Amino acid sequence: MTQRSPEAQRYHALYRTALWRQLRLAQLAREPLCWMCEELGEVTAANTVDHRKAHKGDPALFFDPGNLASLCHSCHSRHKQRLERGGKVVRYGGDGYPVD
Ligand SMILES: [Zn+2]
Repeated sequence: MTQRSPEAQRYHALYRTALWRQLRLAQLAREPLCWMCEELGEVTAANTVDHRKAHKGDPALFFDPGNLASLCHSCHSRHKQRLERGGKVVRYGGDGYPVD
C-alpha cells in the first residue's frame, strides 16, 4: 500500500461525494456514448465520466456539469496517459476514480 499524495487525497474526497455519484449518472444518461469513439465513427457505450478541463481538485470545476464528458474506459485511459506526460501515470478505474 503506497502513501497517497495530498492531491490524491483531495481527489479521493471529491469522488466519494453523493453529488459526484449523481452527476456521473446524470452525465452517462445524457451522453451514453463515448465521444472519442464517436469522432472515429464508432459507437461505444461510455462508462467513464471525464472532466474536459482538468479540475486539479478544484470543486468548482469538479462539480460543473458543463465540464463533464462521457468516455469509454479505453479512451479514458489513453486520454489521461497522454495528458499526464512526465511524472507517474495515473490509472483510472471504471468509475473514473484514480487507481493507485
Ligand atoms: Zn471510446
